[in-house]
Amino acid sequence: MTRTILPRSSRFPILPWRKFSSLTGPRSAARAISTATRDPRTKMRTWELDEQHLSKIRVNPTRLIDELHYTCQWGTGQRWGKADSETGMSRLALSDADKLARDWFVDTTKSLGCKISVDAMGNTFAIRPGREDGPPTCAGSHLDTQPSGGRYDGILGILAGVEMLKVLSENRVETAFPVGVVNWTNEEGARFPISMVSSGVWAGEIPLDRAHGLKEVGGGSHTMKSELERIGYLGSLPASYEAMPLAAHFELHIEQGPILETEKQKIGIVKGVQAYRWYTVEVDGQEAHTGTTPFNSRADALLAAARMICTSHTAAADHGALASTGILTLSPGSVNTIPGKVTFSLDIRAPTDHILDKLEEHLKSDFDFIVSTESTHGLGLAVSWQTDSVSPAIHFHDDCISTVRASANAILGDDKLSREMVSGAGHDSVYASRRCPTSMIFVPSRNGISHNPKEYTSPEDCAIGADVLLQSVLRYDRLRFARKV
Ligand SMILES: [Zn+2]
Repeated sequence: MTRTILPRSSRFPILPWRKFSSLTGPRSAARAISTATRDPRTKMRTWELDEQHLSKIRVNPTRLIDELHYTCQWGTGQRWGKADSETGMSRLALSDADKLARDWFVDTTKSLGCKISVDAMGNTFAIRPGREDGPPTCAGSHLDTQPSGGRYDGILGILAGVEMLKVLSENRVETAFPVGVVNWTNEEGARFPISMVSSGVWAGEIPLDRAHGLKEVGGGSHTMKSELERIGYLGSLPASYEAMPLAAHFELHIEQGPILETEKQKIGIVKGVQAYRWYTVEVDGQEAHTGTTPFNSRADALLAAARMICTSHTAAADHGALASTGILTLSPGSVNTIPGKVTFSLDIRAPTDHILDKLEEHLKSDFDFIVSTESTHGLGLAVSWQTDSVSPAIHFHDDCISTVRASANAILGDDKLSREMVSGAGHDSVYASRRCPTSMIFVPSRNGISHNPKEYTSPEDCAIGADVLLQSVLRYDRLRFARKV
């Protein structure tokens, strides 16, 4: 764990404000109009903004990326290039480095006029008041990383949220209702082994005691509760959507896959999260001597399992789904004995539950066929399935999806530069979506890589994503005002 201690006076420097005129291109032109022609004493009110004015409120791209790299001094990971920012991150949840990043989050958002609430899972809500009271429209993500992670997964979502607060503050924007940013604790599940655990507790889906009792991986004695206490983030607010309701949750996140980059698109409008199911498949055959048992007298459990794994790949491709095997065990595990028993994990994923139903049916029938045919010399082979986990597809809220779509169109000016997507990975937005309208915004990941020190999203793409996040929150606030909800 790298711990950098800076003198208090330089820990949270105010980054120099880049004047709009120092920027180039259409982005700066839009910015110049939005500020130069406005009386600085006049507040912008979201509910009075027409489309033309709203679409010109943008983030400061240089400040966003400078601040992102600034916060990566806490938990800096493996170096992969020569530039200062060319390292990964190793900021495990509730470590000393995580505490310093959290302290930065609290100090910065407080200085922007936010009220801070910390709940019993350390989830930290920075809320900026609106004209009326009510639950906040929040941008949310996470500051923790994998032990060998990158600078963008989760971090970009929080930094873009903080940049949003700065833009609102300096432009004296008044929102109809409160808006804010939430940092969810231990999203990665890398140190305390349940991912998205704290948004899960907030949503009422994971019991608080179970989460508090989680021990750190690697045999250490620390628990989530003891580490929350140690770093001073065991809040008094109950970790619950009832104690801290959200009006909506928008999460900017790197795609963590190759689609946007391959298609040369800038924004993924995330409509939901794909469904997945995990199984353990057991194939029983008969152990026999490899030298004395002819092929036509064998019940080779591994040969059958190998055919099943190949079949699962082809069938999933036919259904527009994914199938993967990550664990394979065979017994007895001897060079000269034909395996009598094999178990393997099977992970299948698809955009809808219906596709998974069809794929599961297809695979069960194919696996039965494999054990019954001579192609596997199927003398006395049997297959059985155990379902280990079922996670239904999640469809985010239509209001939030259309808000993100409108924002992406306003920023990009061309709907061919964005696409609708389903997330292949879980995020805090999954749990948030159980309790409030939610959607996500994806930006391209270079080479589709994440959970890797070389994870990278260009400064331009980070800024586009942050602009879409900012405008989504403002548009949603305007929508709330129009509906009075
Ligand atoms: Zn993440």
